[in-house]
Amino acid sequence: MRIFAASLATETNTFSPIPTSRRSFEACFYAPPGEHPDEPKLCTAPLYVARRRAKAEGFTLIEGSCFWAEPSGTVVRSDYEGMRDEILGQLRQAMPLNAVLLGLHGAFIAEGYHDVEGDILERVRSITGDECVIGCEYDPHCHMTEKRIRLATVSTVFKEYPHIDFVERGEELVELVLQTLRGKIKPVASLYDPRMWDFFPTSTEPMRSFVDKIKKLEGKDGILHISVAHGFLHADVPDMGTRVLVYSDDRKADGDRLAQQLGDEIFANRGKWCAPTLDIERAFAQALAHNGRLAIVAEPSDNAGGGAASDCTLAIHKLIERKVEKAAVAPVWDPGAVEFCMMAGPGARMPLRFGGKVAAESGPPVDAEVEVLATRHAGWQMFGSARVEVGDTAAVRIGGIDVILISRRTQAFGIELFTQLGLDPWSYRLMVLKSAQHFAGAYGPLASLIVSADTGGCCPQDPAKHTYAKLKRPLWPLDQQLEGRMLV
Ligand SMILES: [Zn+2]
Repeated sequence: MRIFAASLATETNTFSPIPTSRRSFEACFYAPPGEHPDEPKLCTAPLYVARRRAKAEGFTLIEGSCFWAEPSGTVVRSDYEGMRDEILGQLRQAMPLNAVLLGLHGAFIAEGYHDVEGDILERVRSITGDECVIGCEYDPHCHMTEKRIRLATVSTVFKEYPHIDFVERGEELVELVLQTLRGKIKPVASLYDPRMWDFFPTSTEPMRSFVDKIKKLEGKDGILHISVAHGFLHADVPDMGTRVLVYSDDRKADGDRLAQQLGDEIFANRGKWCAPTLDIERAFAQALAHNGRLAIVAEPSDNAGGGAASDCTLAIHKLIERKVEKAAVAPVWDPGAVEFCMMAGPGARMPLRFGGKVAAESGPPVDAEVEVLATRHAGWQMFGSARVEVGDTAAVRIGGIDVILISRRTQAFGIELFTQLGLDPWSYRLMVLKSAQHFAGAYGPLASLIVSADTGGCCPQDPAKHTYAKLKRPLWPLDQQLEGRMLV
């Protein structure tokens, strides 16, 4: 038995001011065949899992290239085609194959390609033929098109947001593919489109119970696997939106019924899946009035994980203005300012200009007398079981406000952002975290209040703040008159 695995993944924000090219992937994560480290990355779990299963069960795994870039703007066409063709060339060399495993994010957009994953699958299928089993793993912030589902044999989507389950869903994908190859199951897809987009954090209700419920439905009554693709609103593509994907064991009518039932339940609760995003004044008013443990103000609009710069200064200016004590902001992407702090060293007091660089929405830079509290070469943080590099990093203090500066653009995931610089995350009263939801896994247990604030970046939590030209309408919340439909 011969199985090929590769990964090509990013999450494209078509409204982002930051360009994306092959250079972006090579700077973030690029593993040529055989060079993938023995630890999982967010979108490479199928390869990581298959490596272990191949050893244990004696099948041959042929490893292809793996690419990941931090979310940013539309990918340069020739660079996408080059990375795609690198993988397709390896695939051709690896033939004949029984199965192909692809680690995809599902929201990769390149110039001239609004459905990159559909394009990859079409080309993979034309090389492998119809008999080959093709399995894909996706991030829920994907655009789950009909084309992808028709071309692949089976697909899984992370169920958790924060995405702490990417290895688990990779395990399930590989298991479904192996069972299909061994003739034990025949996965048949049902894809339902409730014609909406919403935000579905799974660390809070009602999504927590919804995910627990769909997990209990799997493995019973001929239902093999259930996924909810949340959709990624920061992309102007025809298929942006929420989808329910059910795989039955050759029981199409049952799969269709369940997909529609779950999709209709999601639609019936539209607008109730998460707390509303506030403006910064209201968010700070709530956080400062809070009399408990730490209050976290999340800043999803400047989330690097959604394609933003993570250098918006609005919240920092407000904290300085109000002379807030025991406050922290993390992380602010400013490689130049980090470099100055590294040169000056811990203990230095100096005027520093930082943030407010990338785009108009980043706001004016902060000019302040700072104390450099600590610096660290090649910093990192944990995201579930994956290590995320933050590059050189520094902590600076302005009055009662500590700011974590980083040189590799990424969002707030783990408390190592603070602890690796010798700072105690439990010592703060208010923390502004540049992230939409992934911070909640590590920081959630520290906080007794979490609110979200919109500071005007390219990742608003409201689709009405984007101008879509290609998006298929109607779609709630932009439209009210609509009806769900089965796509597959
Ligand atoms: Zn995601």
